[in-house]
Amino acid sequence: MNRLQRFFKTWLLWELLAGLRLTFGRMFQPKFTLHVPEEKTPQSPRFRGLHALRRYPDGEERCIACKLCEAVCPALAITIDLAEREDGSRRTTRYDVDLSKCIYCGLCMESCPVDSIVLTRIYEYHGEQHSDLYFTKDMLLAIGDRYEAQIAEDLAEDAPYR
Ligand code: SF4
Ligand code: SF4
Repeated sequence: MNRLQRFFKTWLLWELLAGLRLTFGRMFQPKFTLHVPEEKTPQSPRFRGLHALRRYPDGEERCIACKLCEAVCPALAITIDLAEREDGSRRTTRYDVDLSKCIYCGLCMESCPVDSIVLTRIYEYHGEQHSDLYFTKDMLLAIGDRYEAQIAEDLAEDAPYR
C-alpha cells in the first residue's frame, strides 16, 4: 500500500466504515444468540457431560467391577473397591469419580464392557468446593436411574459409531 492510499484511508476513516458496513449487514440476519437457560444449543448424542452408573431393567447394577475404567482413566479420577458376592459375582463396594480431575475424555465409557459407566448430556452442574465435585457410587447410580431413558436413547443413536 503506497503512502497516498494510506493517507486517504486514514482520513476517510476507511476501517471504521468497513466495520459499520459489516455491523449493518448483520443487523437483519437471523441471530445466533440464545436466551440461556430457557433456550439450549443442539447437542450431539456423543456429548460428554456428567457421569452416571447404569442398572439393568431388573434393578441390578451393570458394573461387574472389572476395573477397566479405573485402569484406562488418564486423569486417575476413578477409584474402585470391590468385593465378591456369595454367588461368586463381583460388585463394587466403592465407585468414586473425582470430577475436579476428570478431563471428560470418555475413555472410561469406551472401555466399559457392559455400558455401565457413561457420560451423560448433563452439563448444568457446578461445585463451589472440591467435595461438591466428588461423586460417589450412590450419587452416580442416582443420576443413572434418573436419566436412564435419555442415556439409552443416546447410546442407541450412537451405536453405529461405537
Ligand atoms: S472421562 Fe476420562 S478422565 Fe474422566 S473419568 Fe472417564 S476416563 Fe477418566
Ligand atoms: S464401570 Fe464398566 S469398566 Fe468400570 S469397573 Fe464397572 S464394568 Fe468395569
